[in-house]
Order: sequence, then structure tokens, then C-alpha cells
Amino acid sequence: MSTSASPSGPTPAEPHGDIAVGTVTDRLVEANKRYAADFTDPGMDARPVLRVAVVACMDARLDLHEALGLELGDCHTIRNAGGVVTDDVIRSLTISQRALGTRSVALIHHTTCGLESLTEEFRHDLEMEVGQRPAWAVESFRDVDQDVRQSIRRVQTSPFLLHTDDVRGFVFDVKTGLLREVAPA
Ligand SMILES: [Zn+2]
Repeated sequence: MSTSASPSGPTPAEPHGDIAVGTVTDRLVEANKRYAADFTDPGMDARPVLRVAVVACMDARLDLHEALGLELGDCHTIRNAGGVVTDDVIRSLTISQRALGTRSVALIHHTTCGLESLTEEFRHDLEMEVGQRPAWAVESFRDVDQDVRQSIRRVQTSPFLLHTDDVRGFVFDVKTGLLREVAPA
């Protein structure tokens, strides 16, 4: 995620071909109609072909399938702000492994993540604004390598996962498109 490069507030959709201007979601729905027009049922099983789950930041500059050479049906993708291994990510990984057969986990963080510019003060400020402190941690960080190492440890030490022998963590460079692996602690 990045908080620095995006304009604030809702962004109207740009005109696209012969599509009328509407909300961004209108544009998505129109795009889906074109997608479905050419779509044929690939007849796939729900179990990922490569038996891998990828946990990544939601950052708009990270096209996981393109960056990792993934095809439809290859993997589970689990994304949130920071690619943080939260309880809910563990929930998804547990289902991924125990119900849908994945065995490997790849963790993808990236350079210039929006979480580097936040602090846990974000929660305090929220509480001051809305009168309620969120139950979740912001999970901001200063050192992306350390954040990847922590994520690896959280996966490796989860009692719910069946497969923790192939857990690897990386930093994606948004300027070069290259992954750099982070050695576990
Ligand atoms: Zn990010």
C-alpha cells in the first residue's frame, strides 16, 4: 500500500473507449461484461495447481500474477495492507492448506510501502476521532527486512498450519520489478 502517491477522495472513472463516464465501480462492471463475453469455463478444480499460497501487500503497483509468472488457477493470493500475517491471514492459510491442498507459502512485501510512513499513533488518532479504539494493530514498520522475517516466523510458528517447511519471504522493488529474498532470522 502507498499513502503518498494517491490523490485523496473518490476518483471518477476516466472515459474508456465508448464507455460513458460513471463511477469507478461502473467502469469495473462494464469491463466485466467484456471479460465474460470471451470467457469459457476452464473447468478447474478449486485446489491451486502449484499448491502455493502467496501473501502480499495490497499495493496497487504489485501485479502478483505478472510479477511471479502465475496463471489462473495456480495459487491462492491473500492480500492486505502490508502483507501482514494477521490472525485472518492465518485463517486463510489454514483453510488453504487443510481444505485446498497448498503446501508452500510465499510472502511478498515491497519497497516504499505505505505502512513505513505510519505509526501505531494511527490507532490513537482514530480513537480520538471516532471515540473507539480499533481492535487491530496498524502493524506499521521501519525495516522491511525485519518485517518480512517477522512474517516468516508468524507462519512457521502457527499451530494451525500443516506445512511450514517451505515458507519464504521477499521484498518486491517497485522501481525495478525484481524480488529480493530475505533470509529467515
Ligand atoms: Zn505496501
